[in-house]
Amino acid sequence: SVADDRLSEFLKTGLYRLENSNTIFMDPVRVLNRYYSRFRVSPSAYYTRFFQFREANNKPFENSTAKRKRKRQRKPQTLNQREEIANQRHQEARSLLARAHAALLVDGELLEILRSLRKDGESLEKRDGSELNFVELGSVWQAPLYEIILNLCQDHIFTENEGSQVNQCCEPRMVPVFNNHVINQGTDDLVAELLSNKYIIPRGSCFYMSDLRDVQNLVPAESDSGFNLILIDPPWENSSAHQKSKYPTLPNRYFLSLSIKQLTHSLGSLVALWVTNREKLRRFVENDLFPSWGVKYAATFYWLKVKADGSLISELDLFHHRPYECLVLGYCPGKNGDSEGLLKQNPLPDNQVFISVPGDYSRKPPVGDFLLKYAPSVDHPRCIELFARELIGGWNSWGNEPLHFQDSKYFLNQ
Ligand code: SAM
Repeated sequence: SVADDRLSEFLKTGLYRLENSNTIFMDPVRVLNRYYSRFRVSPSAYYTRFFQFREANNKPFENSTAKRKRKRQRKPQTLNQREEIANQRHQEARSLLARAHAALLVDGELLEILRSLRKDGESLEKRDGSELNFVELGSVWQAPLYEIILNLCQDHIFTENEGSQVNQCCEPRMVPVFNNHVINQGTDDLVAELLSNKYIIPRGSCFYMSDLRDVQNLVPAESDSGFNLILIDPPWENSSAHQKSKYPTLPNRYFLSLSIKQLTHSLGSLVALWVTNREKLRRFVENDLFPSWGVKYAATFYWLKVKADGSLISELDLFHHRPYECLVLGYCPGKNGDSEGLLKQNPLPDNQVFISVPGDYSRKPPVGDFLLKYAPSVDHPRCIELFARELIGGWNSWGNEPLHFQDSKYFLNQ
């Protein structure tokens, strides 16, 4: 039956198309696992939040401080002009998101799966190992001296002369970890070591770990080796003290100088930008950022966040803490093209919704490969993620901590 097909498709891909709506339910763990051959992302290490239930009635856990906070944050009665516009924007998204959520709630089978997404038989205590702080490590004077050990032993090496694959065992390779393009060109995952921590590097992934100051090093020498798909999740400033303890943020003006045009392939690029719901930021993106990058707006996708019992992580109308985030999409023209032409050639669905249970703080669901089919290119699009915290096969990851979620503690013990 159709339902069975969708289920087996979900078990394979981690994507589940909900009936009668432009909505995809996603299990990021299953999506990510498709990039690994020997390793598995640990569901309990991914889903660190939103899985607590109260024993008695299975209601999501909520303490009284959260409730009090929620009361305080309720939408004010009178809105100023900016809030009015923000509210209008929200109302447009609201009906779409309410419909998407309703489609999830009537799907009994999917709700059943949702509850069990974190089951992996591993205890959480095992994952306590200390993580390296790459932001700190990269800012000390010794940073250029740090080397990462790539254990290529079980790797298949492609030999140019014979044009065939041979199983070749070679010495571990040591390469600088900062300000260096590190690539796993093999056909298998590899394990890398840095200061006694282990990192799992998926096949076909590439990273460049540096500060924004050195982002120019990503600009390709030839524009036809530029990128067709550029995914960006900037460290936007925000008043949350919690966020400040997780990673450094930057004032908006720093993002204006990102060289999106120079990174773009001669055929053009699809640019996908994660934004928060702050009206001031949305206006900055529309009026300043996209124009300065030369990007023409094309569509908005939504990420709706649910708990493991299917309920939203916060009320849909909560003014300062919405249960959704937006991915704003646009096209950047290449050498001779124009963005209107790109828009026509690659019609993006507007109002696509993704639903998932969030992972760690600020971690986005892996939507990159879903966007591939809309990227302007002749064969396989070249892809880059800016401000990345993880590696994806077939993608370049840049940021000051692209190895963050590759730490072996986020993977199941083999
Ligand atoms: N998309 C990521 C994910 O799903 O996990 C989250 C990215 S987070 C919003 C922004 C990232 O930008 C953080 O990893 C932060 O350390 C990094 N960042 C902050 N300042 C930076 C700088 N000056 N240069 C490079 N990266 C920076």
